[in-house]
Amino acid sequence: MTMAKIETLCVQGGYSPKNGEPRQIPIIQSTTFKYDTSEDMGKLFDLEASGYFYTRLQNPTNDTVAARICALEGGSAAMLTSSGQAANFYAVFNIANCGDHVVACSAIYGGTYNLFAVTMKKMGIDFTFVSPDCTDEELDAAFRPNTKALFGETIANPALSVLDIEQFAKAAHRHGVPLIVDNTFATPVNCRPIEWGADIVTHSTTKYMDGHGSAVGGCIVDSGHFDWDRYADKYPGLTTPDESYHGVIYTKQFGLGGAFITKATSQLMRDFGSIQSPQNAFILGLGLESLHVRMRRHCENAQKVAEFLSGHEKIAWVSYCGLPGDKYHERAKKYLPEGSCGVVSFGVKGGRKAAEAFMKKLRVAAIETHVADARTCCLHPASATHRQMNDEELLAAGVSPDLVRLSVGLESADDLIEDIAQALS
Ligand SMILES: *Cc1c(COP(=O)(O)O)cnc(C)c1O
Repeated sequence: MTMAKIETLCVQGGYSPKNGEPRQIPIIQSTTFKYDTSEDMGKLFDLEASGYFYTRLQNPTNDTVAARICALEGGSAAMLTSSGQAANFYAVFNIANCGDHVVACSAIYGGTYNLFAVTMKKMGIDFTFVSPDCTDEELDAAFRPNTKALFGETIANPALSVLDIEQFAKAAHRHGVPLIVDNTFATPVNCRPIEWGADIVTHSTTKYMDGHGSAVGGCIVDSGHFDWDRYADKYPGLTTPDESYHGVIYTKQFGLGGAFITKATSQLMRDFGSIQSPQNAFILGLGLESLHVRMRRHCENAQKVAEFLSGHEKIAWVSYCGLPGDKYHERAKKYLPEGSCGVVSFGVKGGRKAAEAFMKKLRVAAIETHVADARTCCLHPASATHRQMNDEELLAAGVSPDLVRLSVGLESADDLIEDIAQALS
């Protein structure tokens, strides 16, 4: 599709039906696909021909929706996964294995932190965490000869720090590794990390992309820009024969634009099986159609709520990069000129207890382990998503014990502000 505008890509990207074909993306609710000869199927198994044979690896509905997200992010190839967790795991594990090392920003989603610091560590991959505000020197010092990737979130969940994508991309490239950016909170409507030098973009599509709290899902987009062949010794999985596919060399057969996603699909999806159901992919596709409209409204509402909170006597602090005094306001102007997201973090005076009491009194906003859907919801991360962390780790992740994460939805901003006001009083 040559239509370049983000709004058009949200609505029509990735799917151009031919004469007489369905206008809406069809749900191919089939585990398997039929072939006339075993030779035909054998070619698929050897990756000599492209096509579908089993939905654990690939499904046409999923591929169509992935193509839409790929177009939105300006990537070369993309794949859906069953969740954001699976997306981040695959994105890193596709290039970092036992004995390798990864540098990650410390301000990241609690589930991702746990995946890296606990579960992937058990798999023999070491992680070094750096502050989102680190200097170039601090960043450089975190790299080792066996470092395979640098990882960060455009807008960190729930710390809401804004990543200096250019700084991180330059550091990654100085050390010959790709930058992976989780763009869940900003969405490609508000920021396209590839334009700032990121090499791989991941998403929890569970959040704004679906937008209605209906379907858990994830996505990985490759820019096709990182030159794996230039660092062939570092990335043998992409640049040397894969014996489990009759010796295919991913960079040779699929080029820089296709190697990363083809390997993640044919090895990781084959072996771990975290596929998104075609039904969920369809729901995600529906969500994408209105993403650009919804993001504008989420940001408008959040701005109003953040301004109200910052002027309230019972609020200790507010974190929202749309506020002029915010620590990340200037960085947001560069990377998020049209808005950031609908999530606002703040502290209620009186700490943890006051935060819990306040949340109990809310009527429009509900307490949920969720963000970024049409309905306003709130969470106390220190007692929920981040409860496995000690105080030191909480601090490094930008989560104070009194932090309330409010995900501002698409209701009337007036009603939301009235609800917050009555709960505070
Ligand atoms: C929610 C979230 C994830 C995990 O996604 P799931 O779809 O819940 O598995 C990863 N990264 C960020 C930034 C998130 O907000």
